[in-house]
This record gives sequence, C-alpha cells and structure tokens, in this order.
Amino acid sequence: MVILKTEAVVLKAWNLGETSRILSVYSRDHGKVKLVAKGGRTLKSKFRGCLEPLSRITIEYYDKRTRDLQLLGRSDLLDPHMKLIGDMRGTVLGLAALELIYRAVAGEERSVEIYDLLSETLSALNGAGGGFAEGIFWRFETRFISLMGYQPTWDNCLSCGSSLGKEGGFFQASSGGLLCASCGVSRGGLVVAGGTLDILYWLQGAPVFEAAKLEPTDGEKAEIRKMFDLYFKVHIEHIQGLESLKFLYGMESTNRQGIFPASSNTEIH
Ligand SMILES: [Zn+2]
Repeated sequence: MVILKTEAVVLKAWNLGETSRILSVYSRDHGKVKLVAKGGRTLKSKFRGCLEPLSRITIEYYDKRTRDLQLLGRSDLLDPHMKLIGDMRGTVLGLAALELIYRAVAGEERSVEIYDLLSETLSALNGAGGGFAEGIFWRFETRFISLMGYQPTWDNCLSCGSSLGKEGGFFQASSGGLLCASCGVSRGGLVVAGGTLDILYWLQGAPVFEAAKLEPTDGEKAEIRKMFDLYFKVHIEHIQGLESLKFLYGMESTNRQGIFPASSNTEIH
C-alpha cells in the first residue's frame, strides 16, 4: 500500500451509511479513482466542501491495487466553482462534461491532457457570465474526442479529400468525418451545413474563453448537438445520450412552448 497525492475533480458522489461518502474523481496523475471519505458527512468532517461534484480538490489516499475503493486520507478544496451553482445552464453543461468522462474513461486510463481540459472547461463555464456557454462545452467535446484517440476531420472529404467548404457534407459517425456532396449522395449520412463545419473546425484551435463568444444559428446548434450525440453513441460503449444534456434540451423545449413566462429567470438564451 502506498500513499498517493494528486489533484482531482469530483465526478460523482454517493452517501455511504450514516456518515461517509463515496467519490468518483478524475485525478491528474492517476486517472479515475473511487474513494471513500469516512465520516465525510459529519459536522466536524475534515473533508468539508471537498465532496461534491464539480469541485476541484487535492487528494491524498492510500492506494491498494487489489481494492476497487481507496481510502481518502486528506483533501483540500482548490476551487468549488461556486458561480455555477446559481447558473443552471452552466451547471448542467459542467455536469455533462463530468458525465462524459465518468462514462467514457476507464479507471486505469491516465491522461494529464484530459484532466487539464476538464479543469479549464469548468473554470471557463464558471466565468462565462452571459456568453454562449455551450460553445465551451462543444470545444470540450471536440478536444475530448481527439484525446480519446478518435481524431475527427471537419474540413475535408473522407473519400476524395476535397475541401468541404460552404456546401457542407454528409457526417459519418462511424468513420468520424464527412463526405462531400458528390461522394455522400449515394452513401448518405447526416446532412451538415458549411457554417456548422466552420464552427467545429474553429473550435479545435480556439482558446477556451473565445468559445463562449460563438453566435450559432438555431440550425447550426441543432446539427452540432446531433453530430456529437451520434458520435458518442457509435464510439463509446454504453453511451446512449448524456442524461445531463437531455435535461437541458428538455428545459429549452419547455421554454419554447411558453410554459414559463418570458420574464422568468429560467429562460434560456
Ligand atoms: Zn468526396
């Protein structure tokens, strides 16, 4: 048994018995780890503030390879991402990022790049203010796909290599790219406009805060959501759509139907 010390983001947390809490975290140096915080729910707990999803914390734990659950010895709060708490859209997008990592990454896969991407995404969502927060989440999805080893191609036809340009193309979720109008006409795929591809291509190299400045049309937004959804269904086992996003889209559709008054602060922009 060794004592390991690193930084982590809490992906998920459950209560255990009367006083303890179990955490699934994504750590910078050891990938996904499951920890038990004994006495974590008592008033005098030494883990206070560290045991909730979205929090960025330090962890010190006793690692025993044969055990699925490791014992948390010490934890300090680095960033609770508190602003997200009052921002429903930002919170849901942050939870969707956690959900994607929780479901797509196996425990033993360690990636400092994925950790840093998650950490900068949560910080940016926390500070996005009135910007288009979903742009930050799309950037996260695009880069996450690349870091998982599936490099998407948004700019050239997979078959003939021609530039897709303004005409757009046919998205092929299984091969992770697009076909041009002439190659795709017989083989099909999800029809995607040129403007949508421009956004995805730009997001691959965009700084995180720039992503919140996007102003997509309703059509571009719908296409990008559909593309990522199809992509994860095909490439990542057990993913049948992210629950957090289903909640967000459901909330938007309720708003569009006018169930909430226009002045309500639940309105989504
Ligand atoms: Zn082609």
